[in-house]
Amino acid sequence: MEQGRVEKAHHIVVLADQGQGHINPMLQFSKRLASKGIKITVATTLSNAKSMKTTLSYSMITFESIYDDCSQGGVVGPGGFKGFLDRFQASGSTNLTRFILDHEHPVKCLVYDANIPWASKITTQLGIAGAAFFTQSCATAATYYPMYCEVYEKTPLSMPSFPVITGLPKLRFPNLPSLGCSTGRYPPIIIHLLGQFDNFGKADWVLFNSFDKLEEEVVEWMKKVWNVVTIGPTLPSFYLDKRVENDNEYGFNIHKPNSSNCMEWLDSKKTGSVVYVSFGSAANLCAEQITELADALRQSNIMFLWVVKPDEQSKLPIDFSKETSGKGLVVTWCSQLEVLAHHAIGCFISHCGWNSTLEAISFGVPIVAMPQILDQIINAHFLEKVWSVGLIAKANEDEKGVTASEEIYRCIREVLEGERRQEIRKNITSLKELAKEAIDTSGSSDKHIDEFISQLDPAYLRHRSNYN
Ligand code: UDP
Repeated sequence: MEQGRVEKAHHIVVLADQGQGHINPMLQFSKRLASKGIKITVATTLSNAKSMKTTLSYSMITFESIYDDCSQGGVVGPGGFKGFLDRFQASGSTNLTRFILDHEHPVKCLVYDANIPWASKITTQLGIAGAAFFTQSCATAATYYPMYCEVYEKTPLSMPSFPVITGLPKLRFPNLPSLGCSTGRYPPIIIHLLGQFDNFGKADWVLFNSFDKLEEEVVEWMKKVWNVVTIGPTLPSFYLDKRVENDNEYGFNIHKPNSSNCMEWLDSKKTGSVVYVSFGSAANLCAEQITELADALRQSNIMFLWVVKPDEQSKLPIDFSKETSGKGLVVTWCSQLEVLAHHAIGCFISHCGWNSTLEAISFGVPIVAMPQILDQIINAHFLEKVWSVGLIAKANEDEKGVTASEEIYRCIREVLEGERRQEIRKNITSLKELAKEAIDTSGSSDKHIDEFISQLDPAYLRHRSNYN
């Protein structure tokens, strides 16, 4: 880096929300900005800040705790999720405001997770630039936005909705009792999530962890409403363009990975012979679904690597791991990036969280989609119907929405050995190339990141060659 540039570098505060799926993309965006000469402070809870400090060492990134969840309670503390939201808002907003006001290196911009309802108020009060970061797909924003207009603005969307909404299966919603009971058309969790669009409306930029060629039509549609900036995929640079030094992992894990175990096991398997099964960090599968999955994996002659989180382990059939030890490995957490990058993985049974979706695309791994709730249903729809890179294993149409073992088995066979195998492989390989191209030098996301920085610092584009 150019000498003396650090002193002159712009300072951006990145306000991250809770949860693996929210933190990963924001930390990655922070690393990207830091690699381009921006000083970054990541503002988060005390436990996250401590954990990030021990795993991430970048001279341009520091971590600031704005809420002590260790002593005042995290998401499982008093009052459940709602209790946490209230405490995080009360302490977090005061501490963040003080931090920005008092910092010797003036803060030019706050990049905040759009899911944090109070974030844009801080930018307005302090008169600094604000960028709302949406950690899900553009299609999800386009699907939710008409609901926001109806619920918050009390008027229907004043333009035609994005067409994805037709043909989309009904969304399922999680039950979070601390948010209260459902009274109107939408459950409380949706009302909470729709609040993000207040932040969108007040932001100078709305950043998406996506790339133009993946969601071209949705991006065009959204540009009529917001200043949309696609900056993804935010996977570590090592797996895409290799331009950011030391960026080969996310550097944050909610559980301890059993990675060496997994990698040794995968090394002994043939190319494309293993099914990787994971439902991300937040989904908690019911015992019935775990039994159906276990049956599907037991029945098939296919090797599998299955992430069953610590709080789900007791739902596994007795002796399942012992019985299937010849062909399967069950772990409580792994480095999903290392696993998906491994040649032995032939397909990914996924809940289709947005990060997992982008990771599967970026590594060219076909998906068997088992979406559980919310945006996962939209992502699964895109994977099967729009990009044709996977199949949806259909859930039963009852209250529980469990997917039967026969259906899971059918989809695995179809993706690995069926008629559509070649087509699916071809499509996901093309998307993989487009993902890399987007973030590499002069790709759409790379250009957007440069433009974003240059809007904060017009001199940046003149100096850019120093950072590439
Ligand atoms: N992940 C991981 N190890 C695991 C399971 C998941 O590192 O064993 C990571 C995965 O790579 C992804 C994130 O956890 O980046 C999950 O995010 P996603 O948006 O897919 O789902 P969420 O957890 O938000 O439901």
